[in-house]
Amino acid sequence: MISLVADVLTDEWVSLADARQERPLTSPGESACPFCPGPRSEVGLTPFHVAVFPNRYPVFDHPGAAEVVVYSPRHQDDYGHLSPAHGRLVWQVWRDRSAALAERTDVESVLVFENRGRRMGATIDHPHGQIYGYPYVPPRLAHERQVGHGSACRLCRVDAWTLPAAEAPHWRLVVPRAMRMPYQLALVPRRHVGTLAALSQEEVAEGAHLLQRAYRAYDRLMGYRAALAMGVHQPGRAGHLRLECLPIERGQLRQKYLASSELIMGAFVTDIPAERAAERLQAALAAESLMSPASSAHHPGDPKEPRHDHSC
Ligand SMILES: [Zn+2]
Ligand SMILES: [Zn+2]
Repeated sequence: MISLVADVLTDEWVSLADARQERPLTSPGESACPFCPGPRSEVGLTPFHVAVFPNRYPVFDHPGAAEVVVYSPRHQDDYGHLSPAHGRLVWQVWRDRSAALAERTDVESVLVFENRGRRMGATIDHPHGQIYGYPYVPPRLAHERQVGHGSACRLCRVDAWTLPAAEAPHWRLVVPRAMRMPYQLALVPRRHVGTLAALSQEEVAEGAHLLQRAYRAYDRLMGYRAALAMGVHQPGRAGHLRLECLPIERGQLRQKYLASSELIMGAFVTDIPAERAAERLQAALAAESLMSPASSAHHPGDPKEPRHDHSC
């Protein structure tokens, strides 16, 4: 059963999907992987590069939607290490599905996202992301529609609140001065567009490649496949598109936990200055720009023994 519950104190919605309790919580391994091609898998035997289908354990389902995007038929792949053409194809799928879901009368906003790595909560190792079609507008997106509106758009004045990490003709990759999570990055189109569907083919190609570079830069910084949340803010006509990467690590195998201040007050506390994060990311991104994903010999796996490093 799926239901929406309103919090009368905050006016925020909470989605309840109790069937999700039954989903496997440990990754089934390559031989039983539901996203590897096979007669009993969710992707079947039809050859594909990128597959998209309704989530078997949805958080939203009429009203709303929950879809899975499998990035590659190969279990060991990763978005950051796909060929540039394949990375572009992933973005085109995000774009097409976002546009299709946004058309639906029971969908108010769309989030394309990836929980990368088990420590970020991914229950299947196979490279994949998800798309939520929310039957409401989440509070952060509602706020972004205000600050991204028209000539006063704050995303168009990205210099005022960020430090540069990498520049490109159509996009800027920046570190917010007020990082919520360590080494947070925002990928912002130079043009004031509010959806993936509004991007040109050139913007898609360059954005897809920059995001791949960002993933690989994180892996370079950490020395293994870094756990992170990636999400695409699509405020629509009333705002400015941006992609966000929020890693959960503040150093090698040192996890940043969402603790009392963040969970109870929504007030984030960080211990890495944005200047230092920007400096380290600039160097890692520059190193990654020198090699194509396919030729990158550095294709790290998950860390072996995460150290749980409590901050209190
Ligand atoms: Zn697989
Ligand atoms: Zn703007």
